[in-house]
Amino acid sequence: MLDGEMPILRRPRLPSDASEPIYALLDGRKFALGTDLVVALQAMAREFANLSDRTLGSVVTECLERDRLGSGHRGVLDGLLRQAEPWDGSNHPTTEGPPDSCDLCGRSLLAVGWVIDGCTTTNMLWSWMCPACFAIHGCGLGNGWGQLYGRAGGSAWRVYKGQ
Ligand SMILES: [Zn+2]
Repeated sequence: MLDGEMPILRRPRLPSDASEPIYALLDGRKFALGTDLVVALQAMAREFANLSDRTLGSVVTECLERDRLGSGHRGVLDGLLRQAEPWDGSNHPTTEGPPDSCDLCGRSLLAVGWVIDGCTTTNMLWSWMCPACFAIHGCGLGNGWGQLYGRAGGSAWRVYKGQ
């Protein structure tokens, strides 16, 4: 199924949603990934916490560009940020601004430049997450899942994906 490319990945928003901690979505259907791949993806997700703010921000920018081009999806963050349609390159302003720091780890969102307002695996609790926390605790993007915001300078943010 993978064909060398990362599928759309999602985490269960509730324990009843899926039995694995992370699964693939294909044409709206859930697919189990198998224990080895799940373990590898979970380990990959934890590594983002070690990156500097600037590097973490660059990783998200690269994921978005791969998504826009529709090819070369590589890792767990690519999969979680994917939706059925590739990103079309657009973004739009929002009046709702994120806090200055990640709800879950306290990392500066202003420094990273990207934030996900999204559902977590903790009983559908929503959080403003830095991309590293999203990689571990996020469930994915989309209506009812989460939205990706990018900093537009100063205290302004724009919505890039997930609506
Ligand atoms: Zn965080």
